[in-house]
Amino acid sequence: MITCLISRMYSKSIQNLIGAFRKLPTVGQRTAERFVFYLLKSGKKEVGEITLALKELIDNVKSCEMCWDFSDNNPCAICSNKTRDTSLLCVISEPQDIPVLERTGMYNGLYHVLRGLVEPGAEEELERIKIKELFAKLEKPNTIKEIVMALNPDLSGETTMLFLEKKIKEKNPNLKVTRLARGLPMGSDLQYADEITLGSALKNRTER
Ligand SMILES: [Zn+2]
Repeated sequence: MITCLISRMYSKSIQNLIGAFRKLPTVGQRTAERFVFYLLKSGKKEVGEITLALKELIDNVKSCEMCWDFSDNNPCAICSNKTRDTSLLCVISEPQDIPVLERTGMYNGLYHVLRGLVEPGAEEELERIKIKELFAKLEKPNTIKEIVMALNPDLSGETTMLFLEKKIKEKNPNLKVTRLARGLPMGSDLQYADEITLGSALKNRTER
């Protein structure tokens, strides 16, 4: 027991970085320790590169205030691309869903990133995600004719979609709201869907 306690007593700088890594999703104590000792062993060049990459990330990446993706430019490349179809708006939960949908080659509209989903029974958390921004977009004069709901086929995706569909229908009864066709495995994450399945779910999307 004593040896176990002693082995965990790292220096303050080591402890600090372990603590910082532990804040990352899915990183526990053991993984955080592995990262820190890997960096200590790898030398100054590698640590310098990571430090520089982190600094550039913080200095250069901003929110696109049209779609809420992260980008070096505001508006981002997709929002400022004049060949995109501005009558289509695809609602997604995370920025990482955009490259997945783009790779299908089946979508040429714009996006709105919610930056999260709401768990069932926790509807008060709707304030936390970019819903106000979505409705602000629908209230301003715009060319949007269809909203494509492309949230994860799981409970929180379903909860968020139901809420949004109800709200959209109340505010804009004539706006077409569609969902990805069934076919994506229930409980899965859009980001892990293969291009063919996702492309066909987009192509065969159904109206609500
Ligand atoms: Zn954008």
